Amino acid sequence: MTDLSGKTALVTGSVQGIGLAIARALAGAGARIAVNGLAGDVQIHEVCEILRADGAPQAEFFHGDLRNPDDIERMMQAVAAWGGPDILVNNAGIQHTAPLAEMPRAQWDAILSVNLSAAFHTMRAAMPGMAARGYGRVVNIASVHGLVASKDKAPYVAAKFGLVGLSRVAALEYADKGSRASGGVTVNCLCPGWTETAIIEPQIAARAALHGGDRDMGIADLLAEKQPSRRTSDPAEIGALALWLCDPVAHNLTGAAIPIDGGWTAQ
Ligand code: NAD
Repeated sequence: MTDLSGKTALVTGSVQGIGLAIARALAGAGARIAVNGLAGDVQIHEVCEILRADGAPQAEFFHGDLRNPDDIERMMQAVAAWGGPDILVNNAGIQHTAPLAEMPRAQWDAILSVNLSAAFHTMRAAMPGMAARGYGRVVNIASVHGLVASKDKAPYVAAKFGLVGLSRVAALEYADKGSRASGGVTVNCLCPGWTETAIIEPQIAARAALHGGDRDMGIADLLAEKQPSRRTSDPAEIGALALWLCDPVAHNLTGAAIPIDGGWTAQ
C-alpha cells in the first residue's frame, strides 16, 4: 500500500474526469490535495468534501486559469505557502477538432497554453523544491496523441508531443536528485487512449449522429477505429497508475511515456 501521508499533491483540472480520479487515488493514500480547475463554488465544495472523505487530511481549492501564466505563478506561490507540491499532476486539458486549415487561431493558442505551456510554468516553479526535499513526482497527463497523430487534432497533437518532450528534458535534469530511500524526483507522462470523460463527448456525439443518435454505437465506432481492446478506460484506472508512480518504489522509472490505450500505439 502506497503511503503518501505528509505529502502534498497539486492536481490541475481535478474538479472532474481523470484529474478528479487521480486526486481521489492520491487522497486515498493520505496525501493533502491542492485542487484546481474551472468550476463553480458548489462543485469545488463537493470535490473537496469527496477528497477528505477518501482520506486526504486536507483538500483545498487553488484558483488558477491555466491559460494565464501570471495566474499560474500566483497559484504556485499559494500552493508553496500551503506546503508543496511534492507531487505535481499536470492533468488539465482541452480539445477542439477541425481540419488544420479550418482550425481557429484562438483554439491553437488556447490548447497550446493549457495542454503544454501550463506544465512548463508549474514544473518550473515546483521542481527545485522537489530536488531540495529529495522526493518529487511529476505526472503529466499526455495522451496517445503524444505518441501518434490523428487528423483534425493539430494543436492537441502538437501540445501532447511537446509535453512528452518537456517531460523527458525535466526527467534528465532531475534524475540524480534524492536517493532510493527518499524516492528521488521522477517525471513521466501517462498516455491514455479513449477514457470516458467530458472531453470526448463531442466526438462521441459526432459518431453517434452517424448511427441515428445511438451513443453506444458511437463509442463502439470510435473504439473500432483505433483502440484494439474495444474497451474504454475508466478514469479510476488512470488514477491507480498515477498513484503507483508516486510510490518510492518507482524511483527509477523516469522519462517514460506510458500508454494506457488498449493497444492503440502497439499497432
Ligand atoms: P475533462 O474535460 O473532464 O477535464 C478537463 C479538466 O481540465 C477539467 O477539470 C477542467 O476544469 C480543466 N481545465 C480546462 N481548462 C482549464 C483552464 N484554463 N484552467 C484550469 N483548468 C482547466 O477531460 P479529461 O478527459 O478528464 O481530461 C484530463 C486530461 O486527460 C487532459 O489533459 C486530456 O487531454 C487527457 N486525455 C483524456 C483522454 C480521454 O479520452 N478522456 C485521452 C487522452 C488524454
